[in-house]
Amino acid sequence: MRFTFMTLFPSIVEGYFSETIMARAIASRKIIIDYVDPRDYTTDRHKKVDAPMIGGGAGMLMSPQPLFDALAHIKASSPDAHIIMATPVGKKFEQNDAQRLAHKKHIVLISGRYEGIDERVVESEVNELFSIGDYILTGGELASMVMCDAIGRNIEGVLGNSDSLSMESFENTLLEPPSFTKPLNYKNMDVISEYLKGNHDKITTLKTQLALCKTKYFRPDLYQKVKTKGKL
Ligand code: SAM
Repeated sequence: MRFTFMTLFPSIVEGYFSETIMARAIASRKIIIDYVDPRDYTTDRHKKVDAPMIGGGAGMLMSPQPLFDALAHIKASSPDAHIIMATPVGKKFEQNDAQRLAHKKHIVLISGRYEGIDERVVESEVNELFSIGDYILTGGELASMVMCDAIGRNIEGVLGNSDSLSMESFENTLLEPPSFTKPLNYKNMDVISEYLKGNHDKITTLKTQLALCKTKYFRPDLYQKVKTKGKL
């Protein structure tokens, strides 16, 4: 699967994908990452890619021309590319989006800068708008990286052990139960003794109960969803 980061600052993104799981996924061609810088497409002789907002308002906006031309260039060789814009006004990006989007062939992630991008680009070119939370970042690169990482780990073969996916938080709407590793006692604190007894049915039942308790405590909204689905 291919991800194209459309950003004025590719170097912000490059570092993240040069290490660990994502770097291995790139080396094994499970994921291809490339970059398109709208500044390379501007027709402005001073290489400007932003302009003041029409109708007033503080700050600058990314101009339409470089973005339209950069997207046209991508679409010329990849007409079905799925265009996503990182923006605080989008729907909140969630695990089910990451799972669904892992089946796309090519995703373009547009990162806004300044006060965002000209609305005409959004209206005519963007397939989906996503926010990563109710706060304002200085630019869309972090949000695009978050989405790429979350989608990428759902692509077959990216994680060494695909069981890791099914045991994680948000699978079946629940948070994951408490987890421990060695040593069995640390600073006078024990791991849950039932985990050590080797009865896998009992461990699974206990883990489900603990996951429910944790979800009820930390995320009452998710707990309510599980109840509504009749899973309790
Ligand atoms: N003026 C915009 C507004 O009030 O909605 C905020 C612009 S923000 C300073 C610049 C860029 O950062 C946005 O265009 C978007 O790409 C990105 N961004 C900021 N917060 C974000 C969030 N919560 N989720 C996704 N992208 C975000």
